[in-house]
Amino acid sequence: MADEKRKIRIATCSLAGCFGCHTSMLDIDERLFDLLKMVEFDRTPFTDIKHCGPCDIGIVEGGVSNAENARVLREFRENCKVLVAIGPCAITGNVPALRNNIDLWDCFQEVYLYDPGTEGKQIPNDSELPLPFDKVYPIYEVVKVDYFLHGCPPPAEAIWKFLTDLIQGKEPEIDYELLRYD
Ligand code: SF4
Repeated sequence: MADEKRKIRIATCSLAGCFGCHTSMLDIDERLFDLLKMVEFDRTPFTDIKHCGPCDIGIVEGGVSNAENARVLREFRENCKVLVAIGPCAITGNVPALRNNIDLWDCFQEVYLYDPGTEGKQIPNDSELPLPFDKVYPIYEVVKVDYFLHGCPPPAEAIWKFLTDLIQGKEPEIDYELLRYD
């Protein structure tokens, strides 16, 4: 994948995630400077780019819990040659998917109407808000995914190895010690 004439272009996004996977990316610390010699960033929470353009690698944190998540995910799939699900929220739905066993309307009533700390007692219904889905979906149920990187979040070392393998055009290989599921 490495091309001497241009840098690898990477996009990242957080759907129904907690930004922990992105924080773990930043935990590669000073190697961020090495990374920036090899890549340039398209849409990510670290840039001000609003839409994903043509990219080599798309990294998706978080599952799909509403219509906006699905729109962003489809945009990533259309524009990224390789799409990576990072962390179990993207891979399985993870903790947000615990709501899958609860009726969505019951969830909303509990949070917005019944909770004693809630002010206003109104379920938000502004048309600006994305429509929530009845369930939280892993991203592979919405688009094709090329790679899955486990760990909640994956350790920074695993992210570094995974990314540098991909950037160098190699099939990513993660050592057993770096494979985490928690
Ligand atoms: S996988 Fe874990 S760290 Fe990553 S977004 Fe989900 S909860 Fe956060």
